[in-house]
Amino acid sequence: MSFAASVLTLYPEMFPGALGLSLAGRALEAGTWSLDAIQIRDFATDRHRTVDDTPAGGGAGMVMRADVLAKAIDHASPPGDARPRLLMSPRGKPLTQARVRELAAGPGAVILCGRFEGVDQRVIDARGLEEVSIGDFILSGGEPAALVLLDAVVRLLPGVMGNAVSGEEESFENGLLEHPHYTRPQEFEGRPIPDVLISGNHKKIAEWRRDQSERLTKERRPDLLSAQPLVK
Ligand code: SAH
Repeated sequence: MSFAASVLTLYPEMFPGALGLSLAGRALEAGTWSLDAIQIRDFATDRHRTVDDTPAGGGAGMVMRADVLAKAIDHASPPGDARPRLLMSPRGKPLTQARVRELAAGPGAVILCGRFEGVDQRVIDARGLEEVSIGDFILSGGEPAALVLLDAVVRLLPGVMGNAVSGEEESFENGLLEHPHYTRPQEFEGRPIPDVLISGNHKKIAEWRRDQSERLTKERRPDLLSAQPLVK
């Protein structure tokens, strides 16, 4: 069973983009996941293929129309489609590694990319869209956010990452940031690799890494220490 992504966008040329290269690109070619980029404009009904209109109540910018988006969503995700329907949105719940894992374990995702000021609230409600944010900043469109989400999901699919263990030790997987890494040369611009890492004492090395993880997390992301562990 492969992970099926359908992305609804005004810029289908942005896909697979970066996800056509490297690990994700190889997995795409191998059929571990599939990507269908659907042009929202194809579901407009008027002569000018209009997808947006001025905001009710006035104000700057344009809003994506509920009727056009609903048609596009119903085409991509007919009744019975078990895939979650996501709307990339700065108002959404921030994306976490736990949610990424859930998505990777499922059948796929239907992802709507906003543009302009955003989308008419009624299509969010009527089609049960789950709003997902990739951080507290504003992008010009949902496409880069969809690429970020899919990158995080695809690397977890079976067979995509050569070394599965490295995935489990990653930042956030155990509620902590990862320890620092070192590799050859033994000395770089007068800076040696910490002695413990070349001691060959695996217990000491594990302890040192754990301490470093805790120190970094305390310094940079104290919020993670008070949160529940993401994965048991
Ligand atoms: N007026 C909106 C921002 C619109 S930005 C507001 O203030 O909330 C245009 C589109 O970019 C959004 O519809 C969304 O799809 C996407 N986008 C912008 N920032 C994002 C973020 N942090 N995470 C996910 N999607 C984002």
